[in-house]
Amino acid sequence: MSVKYINLKLQYKTLEKEIMSSISRVLESGNFILGDELKNFELEIAKYCDVQYALGVGNGTDSLRIALKSLGVGKGDEVITVPNSFIATVGSIVEVGARPRFVDVGDDYNINPTLIEDAINEHTKAIMPVHLTGRPADMKIIMQIAHKYNLPVVEDAAQASGAKYHGKKVGSLGNIGSFSFHPLKNLNAYGDGGLLTTNDQELYEQIFRLRNHGLKNRNECSSFGYNSRLDELQAAILNLKLSYLDSWNETCRLIAQKYQKELSDVVEVPSDKPYEEPIYHTFIIQTDKRDDLQTYLDKQGIETKIHYPIPIHLHEAARYLGYKEGDFPNAEKQAKRILSLPIYPELTEIEVHEVIDGVKTFFRQI
Ligand SMILES: *Cc1c(COP(=O)(O)O)cnc(C)c1O
Repeated sequence: MSVKYINLKLQYKTLEKEIMSSISRVLESGNFILGDELKNFELEIAKYCDVQYALGVGNGTDSLRIALKSLGVGKGDEVITVPNSFIATVGSIVEVGARPRFVDVGDDYNINPTLIEDAINEHTKAIMPVHLTGRPADMKIIMQIAHKYNLPVVEDAAQASGAKYHGKKVGSLGNIGSFSFHPLKNLNAYGDGGLLTTNDQELYEQIFRLRNHGLKNRNECSSFGYNSRLDELQAAILNLKLSYLDSWNETCRLIAQKYQKELSDVVEVPSDKPYEEPIYHTFIIQTDKRDDLQTYLDKQGIETKIHYPIPIHLHEAARYLGYKEGDFPNAEKQAKRILSLPIYPELTEIEVHEVIDGVKTFFRQI
């Protein structure tokens, strides 16, 4: 018996016919970049997120970079974000020439809004909260602070496609939303893909040009940009998968509820806040016995992961920023205690119970 952390082949098998027909439709069209498939997908996902505009790009890191670039963030600027995200959140800030300024996180793994104001200074140009694990950051307070200091907010929603906050979809709460369709995300392509959402027409026009070399039209370039477009094949596949997203997210929520109910006696489990509808891209438990538990589960054939074992400010790449151990106690403490359990729509009830039994048995025998 074994439980894999993720099994992408299973999802493909359930959709095989529809996927193959989408793929062949694109191949037959002879159109592979910036065509109707992308336009359709952008329309559908804009509707889904309840925003005016959606723009497909090459991946979720480019979408963050392009978001910052469209806001004019560059050299000498600072962007406030968290030290416990996937490395790309911070990489994108550095890539546009700005400096990341970290703010510690709360028990929900998201930015602690009460610490944001202290991090704002005359160089601050944007705030970039991450909806980590598919749970929305506390956007009301974040937006209040942003308005007070006249700062734009970029939501890193790479892990949270379809999650809701006070009934509104993530990606519609800040000035720009940024999504990733990497194969390991909850809405996933067969390769790389990303997306930006916004209600701001000016930002939309900026982003529209930036993703396509800065071209205004076929021949005229207003300012230099990127080559970062969501291709027609991925757009067609994503548009198809979008119609399943809510039911997939619902299945993951049910798995999360089972984990929450069954495991809260032995480990720390996330508890949903009344205003949120998380999608549980990852389901993270916490225990002081993390390493032993992971080893034990591995021996039982149950695969787990750690998202993420090294806080970003403690990476070699971040050394020049001058942070040190102890600067972000919550993120650092969590990094030593967190473990991500398998959670995906194709996970069977039997497998979910195997995971639960595995964790419980570990704590019974120590
Ligand atoms: C995956 C991820 C990204 C980057 O997305 P890619 O499509 O892999 O470039 C950015 N931020 C977060 C929080 C992510 O999980």
